[in-house]
Amino acid sequence: MATTDPWMSEPVEPLPPEKPRKRKKYRRYPRPECTSEDRQTLRELQQGRCGICGAEEELFTDHSYRTDKTRGLLCRQHNAALGMFKDSPTLLKRALAYLQNPPAKALGFGESEKERMKE
Ligand SMILES: [Zn+2]
Repeated sequence: MATTDPWMSEPVEPLPPEKPRKRKKYRRYPRPECTSEDRQTLRELQQGRCGICGAEEELFTDHSYRTDKTRGLLCRQHNAALGMFKDSPTLLKRALAYLQNPPAKALGFGESEKERMKE
C-alpha cells in the first residue's frame, strides 16, 4: 500500500550493526579524544548550556553512535533522546513530521493546532 504519510516518505539510513556490549571495564570520562580541557572549552563555547534545549543543568558529553567521537555537551534527557533515535537525522525528521502532523489529526481528534504548538 502506497503511503502519503510525510513521516514515512523518507527512507531510514541503514544503521550499523549492534556493537557487542563491553562489560569488562567501565569507560571513564573524559575519553581520550576529548580531554578535560576540551570539555571545558566546549562548556565555554556552549555557555554552560545544553546544545539542544539550552538548560543550565548538569551536562553530559554527547558521542556519535557510529564513530564514538565527541559532538558536544547535552543535558541528560537530550543525550538519552539522541541515543534513542540512534543518532539518525532521518528518524528525528520523521519524529518532527509526526508531531507536526499526527495521524489522529486525519480522524479529526487529538490535539488542536494551538495545543500542539505549546512547548
Ligand atoms: Zn537539553
